[in-house]
Amino acid sequence: MNENLQIRTFKKTGHIEVICGSMFSGKTEELIRRIRRAEIAKQRVKVFKPKIDNRYSEFEIVSHNEQSYPSEVVSNAEEILDKSFDVEVIGIDEAQFFDNNLIQICQDLADSGKRVIVAGLDQDYRAQPFEPMPQLLAIAEYISKTLAVCVICGAPANRTHRVSDSEEQILVGATNHYEARCRLHHVIKTESKKEAI
Ligand code: ADP
Ligand code: MG
Repeated sequence: MNENLQIRTFKKTGHIEVICGSMFSGKTEELIRRIRRAEIAKQRVKVFKPKIDNRYSEFEIVSHNEQSYPSEVVSNAEEILDKSFDVEVIGIDEAQFFDNNLIQICQDLADSGKRVIVAGLDQDYRAQPFEPMPQLLAIAEYISKTLAVCVICGAPANRTHRVSDSEEQILVGATNHYEARCRLHHVIKTESKKEAI
């Protein structure tokens, strides 16, 4: 058979895009922008967010500058696979709140020809990699790192500073608990000591 003809019969290739950065860096805003463009291109889209993120709305992803887009709440990553059979573009916000199963689910979706756009925090408030984002970054075809503005000095900020004294890794909140800070002004508070990094 003619080789070129063979190439033309390949099925559509999917891929994974990751949007990562600190809080307030514009991840959700960028996710909404890409999803809206896919809609303009008349593609079937669906956006998911984890159950834990109930900050602003049950039925929408909402950015800190009050842009929103309808979303479905899911309890785990497997639910995303079950609910995505009829869509071409899948958006996932707050990916750091899913467990590591999300990695294989994203692979499966992309392998089946879908465009998967994943947004999430790449570091926790201690500036440690926030799983499963590092693994998603490794397998993604496209990566965008968004930066916020440091609330102390105005420099580009890639860290999330926790204002309150709470020490658990996951504490859902916005300006009540967190600020965007640069490397210099990011401070990790612990009960025993306050250390600047
Ligand atoms: P993320 O999803 O990364 O937390 P959002 O997309 O929800 O971010 O919000 C981004 C918006 O947050 C910006 O467009 C801006 O209006 C607002 N914002 C508030 N504080 C800051 C900050 N310190 N740096 C940058 N943007 C900020
Ligand atoms: Mg967000």
